[in-house]
Amino acid sequence: MATSTIDLTLPYKTRVKDALGNKHLKIALERSTGRMAGQRVAAMNAVDGPRLRNQVRQMKEYVLRNLPDLLEQLETNITANGGRVHWAKEAVDVQRIVVEIARKANVQKVVKAKSMATEEVHLNQALQAAGMKVVETDLGEYIIQLAGEPPSHIVAPVIHRRVEEISDIFQRELDMPPTLDPQVICSVARGALRKEFLSADMGISGCNFAIAETGTCCIVTNEGNGRMTSTLPRVYVVVMGIEKLVPTVEDAFLQYQALSRSATGQQCSVYLSMTSGPRKPGDADGPEEFHVVLLDNGRVDMLAKGYGEALCCIRCGACLNVCPVYREIGGHAYGSTYSGPIGAVISPNIHLEVTDVDKLPYASSLCGACRDACPVKIDLPRMLVELRRDVVEAGDTTVFDRAGMQAFSRMMQSRASYEAAGGLGSLGSNLLAGLSGGVIKSLPGPLAAWTSSRDFPPLAKRSFRAQWRERMKGRKVIGEEQNA
Ligand code: SF4
Repeated sequence: MATSTIDLTLPYKTRVKDALGNKHLKIALERSTGRMAGQRVAAMNAVDGPRLRNQVRQMKEYVLRNLPDLLEQLETNITANGGRVHWAKEAVDVQRIVVEIARKANVQKVVKAKSMATEEVHLNQALQAAGMKVVETDLGEYIIQLAGEPPSHIVAPVIHRRVEEISDIFQRELDMPPTLDPQVICSVARGALRKEFLSADMGISGCNFAIAETGTCCIVTNEGNGRMTSTLPRVYVVVMGIEKLVPTVEDAFLQYQALSRSATGQQCSVYLSMTSGPRKPGDADGPEEFHVVLLDNGRVDMLAKGYGEALCCIRCGACLNVCPVYREIGGHAYGSTYSGPIGAVISPNIHLEVTDVDKLPYASSLCGACRDACPVKIDLPRMLVELRRDVVEAGDTTVFDRAGMQAFSRMMQSRASYEAAGGLGSLGSNLLAGLSGGVIKSLPGPLAAWTSSRDFPPLAKRSFRAQWRERMKGRKVIGEEQNA
């Protein structure tokens, strides 16, 4: 069966071409992103959405302004609760720290809840190289682990796969009888994962937000795997980016509401698991050891370089679901742990190994849909433009790009040349469209990329300016009279 996977090591253009040529991927993306975007709108409209967005934005700005103090407060409170905090500058530091914790505790098996931070630092590979078995327990993550793929969406890691493909994977890897019934498929996964939970020595998760004033790490899930990961094994490790902070418990519930509504269109998620420290005498459950690894990996530099606004991100995935580029090419074409508009901003800034990472800021139409959908009102188009400027300033552009932009700049500086270019464009595009039934099916030279996957409509035969001039012929224009 044809699948919807893309080889991440190929050049960016090839990845995009492969994605556009994959009709299964297109079907999977259309089904899911449209549904999630619609659910988000309904959930935000059910409350005072603009007010919620303003409140979350203010809170996240406060966090960034007070990041060092809040991180120290978090560390103090986690330590007072009996946990341990570790600081990791780079991805390799997270790998080393977690492998050391695991070795000291004689860990053989690790269960993991969904975590983009651990994907970012390739923690699974490090633990496996150290001889441990690692099992993803979020259903989507479990499926892609069985398939040997990375996630393709921040919230819905297996969004690129159709149920037919998931059934194939389970038949192959778990001996499941042929079925397309999602309930049967889920129960097979549940049965397999339950055994893993009960025999795991260590649980690892990311962190949706950590509360500085109480030293509490919170994970938001819908499957209950988060709380099994955080309470059943002897050792529990949280890996979180340094920006995943909220100052107070009230702020945590503010972010929780924005996250649930924006990510999955729910009023609240099915589970919210909060861990402040290891099990205390008399506690019914909980880990014997609780560790929190705080990850930088380029985030502090992002603040310094002027891209700190992207650190307000609460990883809801709403910008992916509305992005016309993501909806066409899916997450794997970006080649990075983080895809979509937020991925195109984060990936060139933090320390990730991504083939052709400087191409990602161009994976956007700059339509602004991502900014409008974002619960934190992050101005992603502004940062995408600034990243493109960085690429130009670094001299990483082609001769065609430079000549094209210089010609465009000269044209836009003169009304006569703008109108002349418009007239020529209209004449040429209408001639070409006339040859192929009203739309241009194939543009020449470097412009051919545009028509490789879609048609190009011809320019209007008469420009707005020409129509306006004709309409206003003989009429007096208010203002011109006064200025005369
Ligand atoms: S940038 Fe905004 S919309 Fe996109 S994932 Fe982050 S919080 Fe969500």
